[in-house]
Amino acid sequence: MRVSRYFMPVLKENPAEAQIVSHRYMLRAGMIKQQAAGIYSWLPLGLRVLNRIQQIVHEEQVRAGHIPLLMPTLQPADLWRESGRYDDYGQEMLRIKDRQDREMLYGPTNEEMITDIFRAHVGSYKDLPLTLYHIQWKFRDEMRPRFGVMRGREFLMKDGYNFDVDKAAALHAYNRHMVSYLRTYERMGLTAIPMRADSGPIGGEDTHEFLVLAATGESEVFFDSAVTDLRLGSREVDYDNREDVAAVCKEFTTLYARTDETHDQALFDAIPEERRKVARGIEVGQIFYFGTKYSESMGATVVTADGSKVPVEMGSHGIGVSRLLGAIIEASHDDKGIIWPEGVTPFPVGIVNLKQGDAAADAACEGLYKALKAKSLEALYDDREERAGAKFATMDLIGLPWRITVGPRGLANGVVELTSRRTGVSEEMAPEAAVARIAEIYAGI
Ligand code: ATP
Ligand code: MG
Repeated sequence: MRVSRYFMPVLKENPAEAQIVSHRYMLRAGMIKQQAAGIYSWLPLGLRVLNRIQQIVHEEQVRAGHIPLLMPTLQPADLWRESGRYDDYGQEMLRIKDRQDREMLYGPTNEEMITDIFRAHVGSYKDLPLTLYHIQWKFRDEMRPRFGVMRGREFLMKDGYNFDVDKAAALHAYNRHMVSYLRTYERMGLTAIPMRADSGPIGGEDTHEFLVLAATGESEVFFDSAVTDLRLGSREVDYDNREDVAAVCKEFTTLYARTDETHDQALFDAIPEERRKVARGIEVGQIFYFGTKYSESMGATVVTADGSKVPVEMGSHGIGVSRLLGAIIEASHDDKGIIWPEGVTPFPVGIVNLKQGDAAADAACEGLYKALKAKSLEALYDDREERAGAKFATMDLIGLPWRITVGPRGLANGVVELTSRRTGVSEEMAPEAAVARIAEIYAGI
């Protein structure tokens, strides 16, 4: 993409309404535009990151054996009357009437609808295990929408639902979600710590929230600092192997890590003092085993191997897809702007032409752009007639992890400059070497 032809309305001034750094940088980098409280348009640069995040979420869900589908945003109220949640949900639910005066709602979540799909089509243990998920817009009429996409009213969520014949199978599905989420967040350059959370009025057996540590996080968290060193890395996990999957979960949930809702001071005090940490975190996901709450009230049953009919065991598992943009920026930025991890960056590399109109510089930039494209890497080429300083400031603000700087002086010596956004370290090398290096960096991503 050439900056001269792109739509990237970068702001010079800090927007007064943004209280936290991620919101400020998303507005300044021209990624989003607010349309109403907690409701945003996704401008091209923001949409590219949102799409990258969705792609990673899809890949890791499919790897875990989960199956995508797509449910609508609007739902009939009657489904929610069956579970009893239509009245319980309160003012967070946006209720709508259609022209026939039928009561509808904009879905804040999809347990009822997925249970309706299940009961219509599945009736035997032979069709299980089954986990269906989608990535769809949700609406919750939050009391205090704030911090940009972090707490929106309309927001994008991945929500998945497992259906299993018994509790042991459902807990395996829970564990599969935990492992797939760990991998998902790591691919986005995040450390998201699973923390035991409160199962609330549903009173399920198990629920964990995934928290990204950040001073601006809305949750207070208590943990053993050793938990932040845990990494899944590139190890292969066989998602069909219950013991293997459970072992990974055990590794990640044994050290103390809880939100304020489940915090236990006595357990916390047992941690060596230097490892005892109290901090703030952003909830980027939650997994939940709730058994038969919806299947019982909505009549979703399966026939088991011995011929008896039982309500299907379920859980629901969510990732805050649009919130993740804010969380990633909170975790990865400096005073000049965003620093995108390679996994989610809107463009893998930026090209800055120091002297637009100089024949050699223009030709070298075109050559780099094409050579990268030939390797399926779309660069963002700043081909505007602008001062070098302004181009650098824009690149730093939008946070592409790598920048290739091209100018007549370097070219006279046969070199361009490759700069890491994260370290600021620059290296001179031949243009072909820069292309090869970028290709190598993104090969495994
Ligand atoms: P919160 O406690 O932050 O209000 P929640 O626990 O009500 O969130 P869940 O029902 O667990 O949310 O939804 C799954 C995920 O969706 C959350 O972990 C979070 O990342 C994201 N999410 C929830 N509410 C919002 C929102 N208003 N804006 C953006 N993302 C959200
Ligand atoms: Mg939650």
